[in-house]
Amino acid sequence: MTQTTVNPNTLYVVATPIGNLLDISQRALDILAKVDVIACEDTRHTNRLLSAFNIRNKTLSLHDHNERQRQEQIASMLNEGQSIALVSDAGTPLISDPGFHIVRHLRKKGLSVVPVPGACAAIAALSVAGLPTDRFSFEGFLPSKSGARQSKLADLANEPRTMVFYDAPRRAIDTVEDIFTVLGGERQIVIARELTKTFETIHANSAENILAWLKEDPNQLKGEMVLIIEGAKIDPNAIPDEAIKTLKLLLGEMKPKKACAIAAEIHGVKKNALYQVALDLK
Ligand code: SAM
Repeated sequence: MTQTTVNPNTLYVVATPIGNLLDISQRALDILAKVDVIACEDTRHTNRLLSAFNIRNKTLSLHDHNERQRQEQIASMLNEGQSIALVSDAGTPLISDPGFHIVRHLRKKGLSVVPVPGACAAIAALSVAGLPTDRFSFEGFLPSKSGARQSKLADLANEPRTMVFYDAPRRAIDTVEDIFTVLGGERQIVIARELTKTFETIHANSAENILAWLKEDPNQLKGEMVLIIEGAKIDPNAIPDEAIKTLKLLLGEMKPKKACAIAAEIHGVKKNALYQVALDLK
């Protein structure tokens, strides 16, 4: 086993557990114990985590509302030779959590920012969902109001990749009703609730069946959840509007054969199908 080194002038972005405390890495614990200060969303929450591992260290609050103010202070502390850990309340900082502004600021200043990877609810859920993971789209939180949620879902109706959302289980019935309305009852959904905790539940079914299941069991509306939606099934012969738009632009600049090849490459559609469109456009 190697020893964990903590370097001066460095911000460590440290993932913490999303439920089960044993999911923290030894390296994360070493860094939390050795850095000069830990910047965290909620100091009481982080202090509970630290005390579970008998770590005593200084904390500094850093949340959505003071992140920009803290930028300069953290940059100066690092420039003075300090080492700092950034944690959020759970999981990987910056993933639907504060930290992006600080990390961007420090990187622009040429300061060192080092990841200490670990739990992330989106990735944990994806890893057990049984939906394609070769490509996926992380969509963060769905809007809480139905109108905005439906329009977000409508924007994603033709998204072919698996889509991952964070949502509150107490809204699950409304959310799945909106999925049913906008994407259809057949669309496969996976609900990953209370991951790594006592009531961990991973349930996959069509939107229609998930809706019935949620309505039957109020326990499924408690805790925290990740919602995963199967990507749209694309007819290989259907040509997306975007591909036709690209093709039209390219046809103004080059020969049809080349335009079709480039548009096909950009949009992942069949060259021959585009060639037919090019002929029709002539
Ligand atoms: N940064 C975190 C991460 O890496 O997963 C996410 C923070 S975000 C503010 C919190 C959301 O993550 C919750 O509302 C829920 O959607 C999801 N989440 C966090 N812990 C979870 C768990 N144990 N099981 C299911 N979802 C969880």
